[in-house]
Amino acid sequence: MLEDYHDEILSCTGCGFCKKSYYAYNFVQKESDYPKGKIMIAYGLLTGELNEDENVVKSLQKCSLCKRCEEDCPSLIKIADVIKAARYSLKMLLPPHQNLLKNFNEKNNIFGDENFEKDGGKIAFFMGCLTNREMKDVVISLFDKLGLNVSIVGGCCGYPIHKIGRETNEKMKEGLREKNFDRIVMACPNGMIALREFNPIHISQFILSLGIKESKKDKNYIYHDSAFLGRYFGIYEEPRQVIKKFGNLVEFSENRSKARQCGGEIEFKLAFPDEAGEMAEYLAREAKKTGATIVTASPHCYSHLKEFADVIDIVQLIEENIA
Ligand code: SF4
Repeated sequence: MLEDYHDEILSCTGCGFCKKSYYAYNFVQKESDYPKGKIMIAYGLLTGELNEDENVVKSLQKCSLCKRCEEDCPSLIKIADVIKAARYSLKMLLPPHQNLLKNFNEKNNIFGDENFEKDGGKIAFFMGCLTNREMKDVVISLFDKLGLNVSIVGGCCGYPIHKIGRETNEKMKEGLREKNFDRIVMACPNGMIALREFNPIHISQFILSLGIKESKKDKNYIYHDSAFLGRYFGIYEEPRQVIKKFGNLVEFSENRSKARQCGGEIEFKLAFPDEAGEMAEYLAREAKKTGATIVTASPHCYSHLKEFADVIDIVQLIEENIA
């Protein structure tokens, strides 16, 4: 609830440090394009000094909730949480978000795709909508190669729906509680946030826990930190350790907690494709200078960045390189 963030909002001094990482982009021109402006909009909605209209909705939704700006905020404002709470107070949804919600409600998949599922053992791989769409066959092949009979859970984690400011039902969580898996593995950090109560682990962590052998080739990879795996979970090193088993690791100039978002969060990209494209191009330019292939650790990042650069997701990298 936005009311819960009253003190947080009032703690914003308006210093504007949160704008810093945005200066690289051309699409930020108005105050409401910056985090500071969105905090002011949230304040206006909270006090009733501002009424909801299309501009307010667009301004609040024009943020991927990546938390990069929070790294620069001296007052440690939970900017992403404030923006998300403000979205929950909105009545209107942007048309692409209406579609996501409709598909989620009708098919338990934000794209309306069929969800792949498979019964198996007590370790579960939670597929999620993006992994299902982008690399379902790679996931199946990976577990075949590992000789593991995992259960594959299909369906949407609901996090993209939460991000646009709408509640979801608890069916997915109820199903997982009933199945009582020993371990839930995911390739998608969105799902890890939505299903946090189950202590899911990322595929990079799972692979390292198996102690797979190194098969290093003379190939350069540049790792793109997913904002959601990194700033939300603090998982920075495991994907790097996996990459170093198969090739040489190169870094973006801004990495780990300072890493830039690629614009690939699906609800952001669908509503703001030009802005999402500019963000991806920024990273693609830097990667191209290094001559390295970008490695993603989120299907949201992979699905988007592959339109702009030479990209492989960490699931694909592992599947291609293990014996
Ligand atoms: S950096 Fe923090 S305190 Fe400064 S304007 Fe942005 S949100 Fe407010």
